[in-house]
Amino acid sequence: MKALAILALLCGVAAAEGKKDAFEAAKSTKHGPCPTPGVKPPRLVNLYNEWTKEWLAVEPAAKPNRTTIDRFLRDHFTNKPADMDARLVDIVVAAADNFHSDVANVVSGFRHPKYNLILRKKGHQVARDSQHTHGNAIDFFIPGIVTPTLHAWAKAQKIGGVGLYLESGFVHMDTGPIRYWSGE
Ligand SMILES: [Zn+2]
Repeated sequence: MKALAILALLCGVAAAEGKKDAFEAAKSTKHGPCPTPGVKPPRLVNLYNEWTKEWLAVEPAAKPNRTTIDRFLRDHFTNKPADMDARLVDIVVAAADNFHSDVANVVSGFRHPKYNLILRKKGHQVARDSQHTHGNAIDFFIPGIVTPTLHAWAKAQKIGGVGLYLESGFVHMDTGPIRYWSGE
């Protein structure tokens, strides 16, 4: 509701700025395009990156822009993006969809080998050759869904590796070989 109200507000601003009709005017402003009149706006899943504090709205049925995804899931320590496996965003969006949530929180996407090494030296439970360093893994949670429930869903997908981090409150999923483990 809030997002729609904001969108309506921005469209209003756009309409006031130009003399053309609101839709045409909106396309030419910094606020971006307004929905086509008479068409129900798509339902979006909003991804939130816990490290960068950035949001990314994804339309479940649409193909998200790869560059935007890679940037959103970049390593926060080096600020470097990687060529992420495109299925990862589909996985997180499907999870949010399954639990009727319009938000999913990303704890970790790409992890630069340099940052992975730092974590290992600090004694964190990260694999030397982690799937995160190859852009093939994502750690996430769905607000309001307890971790064991999300974990059960993740395992049922039979996509790749699934890790349960009960104390930290997230699930790891990757597109590597199917295997299961749990950490803190
Ligand atoms: Zn992970």
